[in-house]
Parts: sequence; C-alpha cells; structure tokens
Amino acid sequence: MKILVPVKRVVDTNVKIRVKADGTGVDLANVKMSMNPFDEIAVEEALRIKEAGKATEVVVVSIGSDKSAETLRTGLAMGADRAILVKTDAASVEPLAVAKLLKAVIAAEEPSLVVLGKQAIDDDSNQTGQMLAALLGWPQATFASKVVLGDGSVDVTREVDGGLETLRLKLPAIVTTDLRLNEPRYASLPNIMKAKKKPLDETTPETLGVDASPRLTVLKTVEPTGRTAGVKLGSVDELVARLKQAGVL
Ligand code: AMP
Repeated sequence: MKILVPVKRVVDTNVKIRVKADGTGVDLANVKMSMNPFDEIAVEEALRIKEAGKATEVVVVSIGSDKSAETLRTGLAMGADRAILVKTDAASVEPLAVAKLLKAVIAAEEPSLVVLGKQAIDDDSNQTGQMLAALLGWPQATFASKVVLGDGSVDVTREVDGGLETLRLKLPAIVTTDLRLNEPRYASLPNIMKAKKKPLDETTPETLGVDASPRLTVLKTVEPTGRTAGVKLGSVDELVARLKQAGVL
C-alpha cells in the first residue's frame, strides 16, 4: 500500500513575518523557510503506518519552485522513500490548483491513502484536502488526532466541539492532520546524507495537463495594528470611575 503526502514550503514558524512596503504580500527575501508544520505531522504519520508494516511506500510531493526540492529532501531525510516536485515559477499556487495537480499525480501514483496537513500556515486556507477529496470523489476525514489503518479502511478520530468523533473511511481516502496527531521526528545526520541519494522526480503543471493560473487577486496585506500604551491609575476609585466612563460598569 502506498501513502502520498503533499508537503508545502512555507515561512518557518520562528520567523517574524514582515509585510512588503507596497502591501502586496509578505516579504520572503532572506527569510528562513521550512516544511509546513502540519505536513511534518502528515509525513510522521505515514512513516509510522509504514513502520507498523501496514504500508510499503511513502511518497512526498510538493508544488512550488526549485526550492521546494529542499522541503522534499527534508521529507526524504525523515524517512519517505521517494519525492515528486511539480515545478512552477508562479509566486503562489491556490488551493484549487494544488488540488487539481495532486489529483493528476494521484492518477499516476495510485496511492491508497493521501495524508495532508489540515492547513498551510502561510495562506491558512484549510481547503486543499477537502477540494482534493471532492475532485476525486474519495471519502475524507479532516483534523485527525488519531489514525488507525484497518483492512481496506482507515479509522480516524477527530477532535470536535465537546468530544471526539471516530469515522471509518473506505480506502482510498483523504486524511488531514491536526496538531495533536503525533510528534514529528527530526531527521538524523546519516538520514540527511542518505536522502540525497533517494529519487526525486520532477514534473510540471503543463505535463500534468492542469491549468494552475490564479483566480484570486490579493488586494491588500497589512500588519496587525500594534497595542496602544496603557495608563497607570492611582487608586481603585479612579479605576471604577474610568470603567464607568467607558460603559464597562
Ligand atoms: P491549505 O489548503 O493551503 O491550507 O493547505 C492544506 C494542505 O494542503 C497543506 O498542509 C499541504 O499538505 C497541502 N498543500 C497545500 N499547498 C501545497 C503545495 N504547494 N505543495 C504541496 N502540498 C500543498
């Protein structure tokens, strides 16, 4: 059984985001980039399923520029067997286009399970897994906090308001990962070296026959407004008076 894990290259979580002076987006010049954290969790889960003897191959796939190959190498260093880069020079590829490209990759690869992150931390779209499931007509379970592979099916536990919900999906299926699913491993130095020799194939949206052109226009990006300075009050009476003035009391 093959598991496909789409991984996105995003700004590292430790970087303080700066908005470009003209407001057209986030400044990516000289910024540390990493694998989307939810995708690390997805790779980890796929590897654990393989290590439990329930899958034979884990393939990581990324859609992006040449630099996304680094993200794929991280996935290979964690333990994935193979990587596929869908190379595009577009500044960003929208979730629907990503889903269409993944559908084309899936047609060729025929995985039984696709594990995605629940959302990419750069666009916060939380759309790709759902759109992919719809395009394929496959069952989907989003925000997985536990995944148990059965015979021809997968049980997925999801954190919902007020408790846990467990779904059984028939394979092939789409699962998206939540934060508490697992703790992803770090790639060891020997595995980073080994990853350099693992296969990384390249393709393009044109070869896959997918139109990945954008449908949305970003009108404006703004930094959150900073907090305004507070005032020190001399007494409780003064505080009560101020709260009354503000209509809080
Ligand atoms: P989003 O819908 O953009 O929040 O992304 C949800 C998930 O879709 C991510 O966690 C990835 O698993 C996958 N994904 C989104 N964009 C890409 C991309 N460019 N390349 C590979 N996987 C992606």
